[in-house]
Amino acid sequence: MQNLKRDVVIIGAGPSGLTAARELRKAGVSVAVLEARDRVGGRTWTNDIDGATLEIGGQWVSPDQTALTALLKELKLDTFDRYRDGESVYIAPDGTRTRYAGEMFPVSGHTAGEMNKLIALLDSLAEEIGAEEPWAHAKSRELDIISFHHWLRGQSDDEEACNNIGLFIAGGMLTKPAHSFSALQAVLMAASAGSFSNLVDEDYILDKRVIGGMQQVSERIATELAADPGADVVLNSPVRTLRWLADDGATGTLGAGAGGTPGTGGYTVTAFSDAATVTARYAIMAVPPNLYSRVSFEPPLPRRQHQMHQHQSLGLVIKVHAVYKTPFWREDGLSGTGFSASSLVQEVYDNTNHQDPRGTLVGFISDEKADYAFSLDADERKRKITESLAGFLGNKALDPVVYYESDWGSEEWTRGAYATSYDLGGLHRYGADQLKPVGPIYWSSSDLAAEGYQHVDGAVRMGQHTAARILRSLPVPMIVGPRSYKSVAQRHGSILSEEVNQ
Ligand SMILES: Cc1cc2nc3c(=O)[nH]c(=O)nc-3n(C[C@H](O)[C@H](O)[C@H](O)COP(=O)(O)OP(=O)(O)OC[C@H]3O[C@@H](n4cnc5c(N)ncnc54)[C@H](O)[C@@H]3O)c2cc1C
Repeated sequence: MQNLKRDVVIIGAGPSGLTAARELRKAGVSVAVLEARDRVGGRTWTNDIDGATLEIGGQWVSPDQTALTALLKELKLDTFDRYRDGESVYIAPDGTRTRYAGEMFPVSGHTAGEMNKLIALLDSLAEEIGAEEPWAHAKSRELDIISFHHWLRGQSDDEEACNNIGLFIAGGMLTKPAHSFSALQAVLMAASAGSFSNLVDEDYILDKRVIGGMQQVSERIATELAADPGADVVLNSPVRTLRWLADDGATGTLGAGAGGTPGTGGYTVTAFSDAATVTARYAIMAVPPNLYSRVSFEPPLPRRQHQMHQHQSLGLVIKVHAVYKTPFWREDGLSGTGFSASSLVQEVYDNTNHQDPRGTLVGFISDEKADYAFSLDADERKRKITESLAGFLGNKALDPVVYYESDWGSEEWTRGAYATSYDLGGLHRYGADQLKPVGPIYWSSSDLAAEGYQHVDGAVRMGQHTAARILRSLPVPMIVGPRSYKSVAQRHGSILSEEVNQ
């Protein structure tokens, strides 16, 4: 058990927590990052399964994700393009399989017209409302009290068009049924990627991958921190209790009842984990909001947070990886890309690794379809899923040499995928308070991002943003230990310096 005194304790070594740590270290502020798992990276995880390197979690990078691309450059990580040459496949509601080229699904003229109308409507709402403060817009309540499913059907009587457009946000992004979240939440999702058109363009949103895997972003930052005397990353260290006390001795009424600005007098916060106890000036909860309640806060969080956090939940998706001796679909003139709102696997892509002679497909099974798939035993599930892949790309898809299902719903320290969203009506009701600190406690994760919401880019932006907020509110003396930079000690006055390993 380690006892540490640091300026900032960060709970969670995913991309958000580690980016915050890196930014704070650049400013000379000492940090300790406590991570529940035996690895860093959180929802990014690159692993070897039966001899195949697989991206079990987050992987794709799009051109608008400039915070992530800048970080990749700094960390000397290169990217490669997703394979996309050849025709795509669309499976219609009646099961008809059609090969097509270009952006629009091969649907009837009427359905195409309705899809284009819905895309234009969502583009214009995304532009008008934006990703920064969707809850503050005049239309926020109106759009937040209607489900995306019903909103779509209020705009169009074409069921196939509604299902196809619904798929991009519901199955494809929030991984919840379109009836369970609002139209405003859908607009936020679109605005966070620049536009709805960007989201529906797989060549844009699924543009590049990191050579060697996305988890390296976290691993490289953790390596930097390990070599830095002002930083600690402690694995196998789930934080169970976060206790904080104002310097004037007050507890529980810290001038931040509904969030709001942290008190001016400063706080001491202590994080108790299985492997370390860290005393600090600030804490960053860099975990998805559905996990906040895994930590006991002393004093308890204010009513507003207790309520808000119950309205943020993770979706559910199975990411299926199927590796074949060769990318056989390419010989057939197919890109490996396929869509169907009515199939078990709703999206499939060529996910072959950089310079790998084998071919890898990745498929996604979302929300209620994932419930169904998990109701089957493992063999039956694999059979149904590979049959669904074969429906897009032919019978050779039935026999992968490596087969793996990413099952984030079973991961104790995540509990779903890809990220959290509000239930119906929650975004306009609580969104304005989601980033307000409570005393010395700040909130940072991709789930709370505007640009890059739900993506690694959003996690990075949130880490940078949270670090900047803490640096701006530094008038109080920091706990600057001997392992921190002197400049900060001089600027803010060092009060404590201690490290005890027991
Ligand atoms: C299957 C899947 C596919 C995805 N695809 C993409 C994609 O292609 N592109 C993209 O950009 N994004 C993708 N994402 C999303 C992306 O991975 C996440 O948005 C990103 O990882 C979030 O980073 P974070 O740091 O906010 O949270 P996380 O990555 O979840 O990190 C939080 C960390 O906190 C730890 N933790 C939790 N509770 C505690 C506790 N009490 N004490 C200590 N530690 C704790 C967790 O173990 C975890 O390591 C995908 C995600 C999944 C699951």
